[in-house]
Amino acid sequence: MRPMKIVPIPRHTLARSVAEQLLNLITAGALKPGARMPSERALMDQLQVARSTVREALQILAASRIIEIRPGVGAFVRTHPRTRLPAARTARQAQRAGRSTAPHHASIAPVAPVAVAKPAPDEPIRVPDLKRDRLATFEFISWWERARVQAARVMVVGAGALGNEALKNLALMGIGNLCIVDFDTIEAANLSRSVLFRAEDGGEKKSLVAARRAKELNPDVRVQYFHGDVNTQIGLGVFRRMDVIIGCLDNREARLAINRFAYRMNKPWVDGAIQELFGLVRVFVPGQGACYECTLTEQARREIALRYSCPLLARQNILLGKVPTTPTISSIIAGLQTQDALKLLHGLPVQPGHVTHINGLTNDFHTTAYTPDENCASHWVYDEVRELADCQAATTTGADLLQIARAELGDAAVIELDQEIVTHLDCPHCGTTTQVFQPISQVTHTDGQCPGCGELRQVKMAHLITGAEPFMDRSLSTLGVPPLHILRARNADEYRFYELTGDLAATLHWSHFEDAARVHVHPRPAITLGQVVETPVEKPRPRIVVH
Ligand SMILES: [Zn+2]
Ligand SMILES: [Zn+2]
Repeated sequence: MRPMKIVPIPRHTLARSVAEQLLNLITAGALKPGARMPSERALMDQLQVARSTVREALQILAASRIIEIRPGVGAFVRTHPRTRLPAARTARQAQRAGRSTAPHHASIAPVAPVAVAKPAPDEPIRVPDLKRDRLATFEFISWWERARVQAARVMVVGAGALGNEALKNLALMGIGNLCIVDFDTIEAANLSRSVLFRAEDGGEKKSLVAARRAKELNPDVRVQYFHGDVNTQIGLGVFRRMDVIIGCLDNREARLAINRFAYRMNKPWVDGAIQELFGLVRVFVPGQGACYECTLTEQARREIALRYSCPLLARQNILLGKVPTTPTISSIIAGLQTQDALKLLHGLPVQPGHVTHINGLTNDFHTTAYTPDENCASHWVYDEVRELADCQAATTTGADLLQIARAELGDAAVIELDQEIVTHLDCPHCGTTTQVFQPISQVTHTDGQCPGCGELRQVKMAHLITGAEPFMDRSLSTLGVPPLHILRARNADEYRFYELTGDLAATLHWSHFEDAARVHVHPRPAITLGQVVETPVEKPRPRIVVH
């Protein structure tokens, strides 16, 4: 007797039946070509299913070319929608195809099929100019598309060991626009793992030096650096204008922040992590399998909750705990991250919601799928974003924004801030109260101590603008809102999303080190092979002192 065969059950049957219902509405004419699909909330309420199921259903319809999802705008019925869904694949078929069981299409629109290098008869064959064109080699790769690569906007968060390797690859590959975020400065210990840093860069901003050297590696690439904390200082509008985000981080909090920002803006992000000779790589795409927050263990969630139970200590602890790594594992992991980014940019299949573990001791690669969490707090794609061309974080007040929101949402509308505002510090011991009105990220543990008795004071916080707050007339930036941020307002029924678009030109310009003369960090003598060069006398450079 043959052993009984166990076949996996497809996971997405619920989402598929939602997709089928929606398709029926489209074919019956209840939703006309070009019409906007009902909001996620309306679908959740009417169909009595979770938000993640609604999203998965929309992704199925999008992948089947029935609707079109415009990131940050909404979902629309296509002009000529298909009238049926392709047959559902079983989990096994999906596995055999070497892909995730989730409906997959890259979220970068439009997704083109993988091109095979066969020139059409009436098109001249393009011969790459290897002598003049630095990207010529890539022309020989069948699926490589110059236009996509050169138009691509990629954000690298973290300019440490992984970030250096990632940026080096992206610049060499000719990725057109690179945005680099880091809040740290260079120290001697970075030099053993950071291909873009030199000894004389000691004390300089990592983001700045990395951007400058990426520009030096490939002057055709446009770069911009942000010296700041991704948790609180990068506006969502920056994420909104990226194609892919690459996380090169060493802490959970920043990963969680990127995960939420990327999800809200419906952007894929590629995470990497390293320790000694071990590493992992994972791609997260909204609506396609697990996100980063879904992967957190109970223990990790408890640790995060514990940290945030004492808000003033939370941030300081993030900076503790350095992990030992080698330049070899960082180049392997960043190599895989940037390769996945390149695939995402070309609409080639990746494995969202999966993790690849690399064991450098045994040279084993192992890929497994995470289980998505239906109730994950990160799963929220912002609907249509309203661009407020006249609003800037530095000049718009809470009152201004509330007025705009109330004009659309009614008098019950409130603004939800992403960052808690410390309003008061109360000392129960002395019975004193100090007014603060600062974002939590700018209040230190030392600030929390009572100047009278030294006890840690109680922190009073607010995260809503309802119209009654004493900080109504302060600018949004003093309330911790970064430039080009997208704020959310709500009444009892719906959310609206408002972008401080007046910040766009100054915030996202991609034009650091465009002046070619300034690309080189330090003037260098021209060297011809076989020639001995006298180094000209230079002013002394700041050097790293190793203790
Ligand atoms: Zn999740
Ligand atoms: Zn006191």
